[in-house]
Amino acid sequence: MTIARVALPVAVDRLFDYWIPAGLDVACGAIVRVPLARRRATGVVLGISQESEVRREDLLAIAEVVDATALPQDVLELAEFVAGYYQSAPGLACALALPPLERAVPARDDVPLRLTASGREALAGALRRAPAQRALHERLAVDGATLSADEARALGPALRRVLARWREAGWVEEARPEGKGTAPRLNEEQRAAVDAILAASGTFAPLLLQGVTGSGKTEVYLAVAAAIVEGGGQVLMLVPEINLTPQLCARVADALPRARTVTLHSGLAEGARRANWEAAASGRADIVLGTRLAVFAPLPRLALVVVDEEHDASFKQHDGVRYHARDAAVWRARRRDVPVVLGSATPSLESHAHALAGRYRRLVLPRRADPRASLPAVRLVPARGPDVRDGISGALLAAIGERLARGEQSLVFVNRRGYAPSLKCPACGWQAGCTRCSARLTTHRAPPMLLCHHCGHRERIPPACPSCGNVDLAAGGHGTQRLEAVLAGAFPRARIARVDRDSTRRSGAFAAVREQVRDNALDVLVGTQMLAKGHDFPRLTLVGVLGADNALYSADFRATEHAAALLLQVAGRAGRAERPGEVIVQTDFPGHPLFAAVARHDYDALATAALVEREAAGLPPYSHLALLAAEAHRREDVGRFCARAHEAALAAAKARGGTVEVFPPVAAALARRAGFERAQMLLRSPRRGDLNAVLTALRGELAESRDRRVRWAIDVDPQSLA
Ligand code: ADP
Ligand code: ZN
Ligand code: ZN
Repeated sequence: MTIARVALPVAVDRLFDYWIPAGLDVACGAIVRVPLARRRATGVVLGISQESEVRREDLLAIAEVVDATALPQDVLELAEFVAGYYQSAPGLACALALPPLERAVPARDDVPLRLTASGREALAGALRRAPAQRALHERLAVDGATLSADEARALGPALRRVLARWREAGWVEEARPEGKGTAPRLNEEQRAAVDAILAASGTFAPLLLQGVTGSGKTEVYLAVAAAIVEGGGQVLMLVPEINLTPQLCARVADALPRARTVTLHSGLAEGARRANWEAAASGRADIVLGTRLAVFAPLPRLALVVVDEEHDASFKQHDGVRYHARDAAVWRARRRDVPVVLGSATPSLESHAHALAGRYRRLVLPRRADPRASLPAVRLVPARGPDVRDGISGALLAAIGERLARGEQSLVFVNRRGYAPSLKCPACGWQAGCTRCSARLTTHRAPPMLLCHHCGHRERIPPACPSCGNVDLAAGGHGTQRLEAVLAGAFPRARIARVDRDSTRRSGAFAAVREQVRDNALDVLVGTQMLAKGHDFPRLTLVGVLGADNALYSADFRATEHAAALLLQVAGRAGRAERPGEVIVQTDFPGHPLFAAVARHDYDALATAALVEREAAGLPPYSHLALLAAEAHRREDVGRFCARAHEAALAAAKARGGTVEVFPPVAAALARRAGFERAQMLLRSPRRGDLNAVLTALRGELAESRDRRVRWAIDVDPQSLA
């Protein structure tokens, strides 16, 4: 009897054996359906064997082979690496590599149509007796006219059939964007970067492409990708967020009109994602552009991996299998012997340290690529005091006014959505808090409510203080909605839009705002960090930053690094073309090295100083961290669980020779969330192998305990300890 060893998406640290019925063709990497505890589960075959530890009569049979396109060996190995490194069950890691099981549906084609020269000739004067067709022809015959996919769909069935006939006859064709294919002439540094990357072809080489925003990193990716695709290779390009994909996608299509590009991200419908996955797996796609999960895509001709904005925290998954897609990408590039380019204006301290140590080769683009563009001047102004009204300093208001007068655009950035982060009673000190979390409720105005940003709990804004009856409740602090209102009051004629998670919930909303900015239909944008990233707004010449000091109060060891990255990113939005930009940062600590470095656009100085601090404090990259997080409804249950975990970890650390420090369990910074009491325990070691061994032992112990009241997870390389 032949046995298949199957990884199933359950949090159990082993594979499951099934026998292979005659006639089923099952090999390693095959995706199969199997019976599992009275239901069906989908998994991946990781091994074939002639024997099993399970008794013959207890073995069940594989029900069905779902997929003939088996996962390739390197993807299976990547999943195995991720499971081992991030302390996850192998089946859960493999599940990340599974394609959507939906049938492939190519994404709806949204390409507009236009009349061809032959169509112009053939149809002119030929439709005298078909007024509807004639109208359609006339509509298309205008120079440069196109019919969008939406317009085509709205035509009605008869005309749609006509349109289809015209297409068949070659009278109408897809008006794909011209694909100028004309890249700008690369400058010397860009050229050197491209050459260095291409010279590494066919070998594993990690390269850190560091360049200020607008220095032309994307042009470097595109030039390299063009050469790779020309040579028959596939390029995997990872980006941090969905909302960046359409822009980059358009640039890829424009620069590489002949390459077949597909995207992979969770914003796609399952069927479309399946179609794109198949295109990647079959080798049909030349360029695969995707978020985190795309790192697991099968790529038979893979020749280059690019990770754009490599410092971005959204590459780390925050639940389930807590893997870091950048690190997984580097692992995969090594496994496949291909170069991997990590691009950023503000590299993570990890990558910065690798570059300093010579493990990554650093390629620098020191200035903005567009010779007309310069880096914006940065001004620091007080965040409090007589000049500040409604949270905005007079200097910033005046600067916005100047932009309005000149017909230029401004962006005001504050990293808080909602109206105000709190609601207080000035009379008795009452504060609106979440009943399910140890957190304050945020005041929202559009629509009006109190909302918990941790658990989603919402309630009505009380008309008076529930504790003393005072009717003058005060909203404290400034969120995006409040700033929008303040700016609308100050500049009644300005066209203002807000961009945050609330305003962009509807799909397409963000894209619509971007278009309005491009079409110069907006004067002021107010928003959260959604606005910080790679959007190119040529008329935007002023960026105001509020609440920048929050990072200085944060307990998170990466807070300054992230704040510097964010500030430099937002600053990068200002003055991209010939119009010089200005950045105004409101801070009460103008002497802080963070702001000094931002003012000089000198990320390296900051990173190097931060590394010194990290080394002194024994923090990454000078040590490796892992966090055990646990939560339960009752505090005693968490306490008991953590005490046992602590003991087990101490014993395992001792057995491993003592390089692993085990810190006592403590309450999490947010001690209660959604009704769960939360605690955590930190482990630290200068040696990755030791830490991993101790975690494996600890995980084994904890899995034994089967305490259903406690939910727990291990986070290796946590982004934050708070
Ligand atoms: P980054 O990815 O580093 O932010 P981009 O590649 O988006 O930079 O380039 C910023 C702007 O400069 C873009 O408008 C781009 O078209 C332009 N650009 C890039 N390289 C050059 C070059 N060599 N010459 C002129 N313009 C360039
Ligand atoms: Zn009160
Ligand atoms: Zn809550």
